[in-house]
Amino acid sequence: MGLTEISARLRAAERAAGRAEGSVTLIAVSKVQPAERIEAVLAEGQRVFGENYVQEAQAKWPAWKDRYPAVELHMIGPLQTNKAKAAVELFNVIHTLDRPSLAEKLARLAEARGVSPQLFVQVNTGVEPQKAGVLPADADGFVDACRVMGLPVMGLMCIPPDEQDPVPHFALLRSIAERNGLPCLSMGMSADFEQAVAHGATHVRVGSAIFGARDYGARG
Ligand SMILES: *Cc1c(COP(=O)(O)O)cnc(C)c1O
Repeated sequence: MGLTEISARLRAAERAAGRAEGSVTLIAVSKVQPAERIEAVLAEGQRVFGENYVQEAQAKWPAWKDRYPAVELHMIGPLQTNKAKAAVELFNVIHTLDRPSLAEKLARLAEARGVSPQLFVQVNTGVEPQKAGVLPADADGFVDACRVMGLPVMGLMCIPPDEQDPVPHFALLRSIAERNGLPCLSMGMSADFEQAVAHGATHVRVGSAIFGARDYGARG
């Protein structure tokens, strides 16, 4: 696969869904990928990237951001409160706002810096005990609380359970976003981004289908 094919499939999925061409943002998820693969994708023109680990992103991205000032970085992994300051300094968008303590920390940082990354609230649509995200039943209240704190919540994000049809999860996320007046939906990965677009995704997070399989053994 690769960037060209995935971009073409994304445009086709937009057309099939009756969505405007270019209306879905492709986030190239570069976690754990070797530098040469990321540089190749930068050279092909991709500017929106997703990372899961603050420290890894801090080590990789400042130099590329200098070379490619239009780079936009999205934090898509669980965010520890003690890494929030580093995260807001590096990332343009955070997709994993999932608890009150993190919201309070991000609000304090936004006040001190006069600016905040755009935010997505992560929803644990499958109610999986090991997975991050607010429960669907708590989502409305949490979004309200974030708004009261002045946080720029743009939308919702989910990671459907492995080995399940993702479509009911995409539909649930969309219905929660609609009733809360949130315009953005971060959903869909390599295996299911076209289905996500059909169900209203505005941001898809595609890693291995662009870069190839991740080799966790080669890290560090
Ligand atoms: C790693 C990751 C992705 C990309 O997964 P692929 O299956 O490689 O496309 C998307 N979203 C999140 C939250 C991830 O952690």
